Amino acid sequence: MNATPELQHFKTQRLVIIGLGLIGGSLACALQKARAAGDVSIGTIVGCNRSLEGLQNAQQQGMIDEYSTDAAEAVKDADVVILGVPVLSIRPMLEQIREYLKPGAVVSDVGSVKKVVVNDMQELLADTGVHWVPAHPIAGSEQSGVSAARADLFIDRKIILTPPENSDPQAVATIDAMWRGTGAQRFHMSVDEHDRVLAATSHLPHLLAFSLVDTLANQDQGWDVFKFAAGGFRDFSRIAASDPQMWHDIFLTNRDAVVDALDLFTADLAQLRQQLMNEDGESLIETFKRAKAARDHFSGQFTKQDQIN
Ligand code: NAP
Repeated sequence: MNATPELQHFKTQRLVIIGLGLIGGSLACALQKARAAGDVSIGTIVGCNRSLEGLQNAQQQGMIDEYSTDAAEAVKDADVVILGVPVLSIRPMLEQIREYLKPGAVVSDVGSVKKVVVNDMQELLADTGVHWVPAHPIAGSEQSGVSAARADLFIDRKIILTPPENSDPQAVATIDAMWRGTGAQRFHMSVDEHDRVLAATSHLPHLLAFSLVDTLANQDQGWDVFKFAAGGFRDFSRIAASDPQMWHDIFLTNRDAVVDALDLFTADLAQLRQQLMNEDGESLIETFKRAKAARDHFSGQFTKQDQIN
């Protein structure tokens, strides 16, 4: 994983964010703030959702300059288009907008899985004269919707760009500069590495949290269990409150990497179970010590925000 070099001041006439939810809305807020500070130059920031309500509020709050519920209409004349929709909505959205994109426009996304997005962009945008630069902000929360958007969501957080090797350098520089304007740290990764790493560090923990909370909720005394939940359970289970549709899309599109990580974890869990059955306290302590040492080592690398989100 390579950090990108400092490239350029982000400058664009018309930026359209399709999917103005937690991530798309936070991007709009962060760019408005950067524009006010003179850190980026953007003519018009446009938000686009299917429903009107959140868009009207977003405009009233100064998050966006214009809005539309018609994505095809919104992207006409756009220089930069960011897709902030769930992963499995990216392909239908590309099909809807591709003939309206102007040649030279740069399309990017914020999807949590990259291989499927890169394949769809490759297939649907090739020969259109449009550039595409897939990206994924490693920032967010269990909340969703534009009302949860925050201007500081990306400050000091990592943004992973996964541009194909033959990407237009200027298009990559444009998306890199946009994210720099939000205060994020930008990194480049291959698509496979991205999906493998995120399967282990984000997708598997979410799967475990959904599973554990569901198991406990299905027990007869489930609600009592939650009533007496201690801090550890609250911390671990928080991510089970994440949006089910978003995670449905992530698991189905990153299935193989998630199953690999799950198999590894299941084998280690079975070993732990055996140690417990055998009352093998020494082995249990060894496992816990290794885990604690790893957590202590890596916790120094977490930012304050990592601990909140
Ligand atoms: P969100 O808050 O639910 O926002 C999604 C937005 O997309 C909404 O504004 C929604 O508005 C719109 N939308 C949904 N389906 C659509 C469709 N079929 N066509 C057009 N618009 C649609 O979701 P989010 O948390 O911001 O996540 C958005 C993307 O960011 C996902 O790809 C996710 O993988 C990625 N991501 C999320 C996180 C996180 O922690 N949440 C972190 C990193 C990356 P309407 O329903 O009104 O259209």
